[in-house]
Amino acid sequence: MQVVNLPEPDFKKRIAIAVQWIANAKHFTVLTGAGISTEAGIPDYVSVREIGEKPAKLTTPSALVKNWQKASPGPAHFALVNLQNVSVLKFLVSQNIDNLHIKSGIRPEILSEIHGNLMLERCTKCGKTISKFDERPPRCECGGIFRPSVVKDDEDPSDLEWNRVQVHARLADVLCAVGTSLSVEPVNSILPMAKRQGAKIIIINQEPTQMDNLADLRFFERAGEVLNAIVAGLLSSRK
Ligand SMILES: [Zn+2]
Repeated sequence: MQVVNLPEPDFKKRIAIAVQWIANAKHFTVLTGAGISTEAGIPDYVSVREIGEKPAKLTTPSALVKNWQKASPGPAHFALVNLQNVSVLKFLVSQNIDNLHIKSGIRPEILSEIHGNLMLERCTKCGKTISKFDERPPRCECGGIFRPSVVKDDEDPSDLEWNRVQVHARLADVLCAVGTSLSVEPVNSILPMAKRQGAKIIIINQEPTQMDNLADLRFFERAGEVLNAIVAGLLSSRK
């Protein structure tokens, strides 16, 4: 596996390059994975999923949901909220099912939880989502039924979400993957998809990823540290 750390080994210089790209981007899109939640102390369910093992814990979803309801977003989640609030972040794709992006304050309109969300059920027909904990009708207004939204290992993401994600991947002029080994299909294919359209690719992950060869800029540092340095750089460049 090729490990790149291009074009500049110095952390501050790489941050400056990222800030410049992101500040000039028209459609900055981010993909997140388990790494940003493990930094926040969440058990690494999605990583287990990423390496293709059976997620044993999912056999007791109620215990899992209970655990996750108590979980709090970490520094990387809040950095992304800051990027949203200054209108820099245009779209966020997350492989995580832990609800932490919503909890941290990401607006659902700019978020696609491509593998679902433990707290949400989804209409099998129209894709509408409702909270697991809300009072709800037996059927959706469209006639469909509500099912857990979490996508199992052998299932494809919902067409609706996957189409939405592809639209934003193609619009992206800077695409940043954070805390993911980029080993889960089809979501990992948005990197080559964006790259073909000319997007700059930034990868932030402490371990090597399957797509390091596509990176225009590579960070092996912690996601929270990198994203917060980018936020600080963007805010000071606006002064
Ligand atoms: Zn429906």
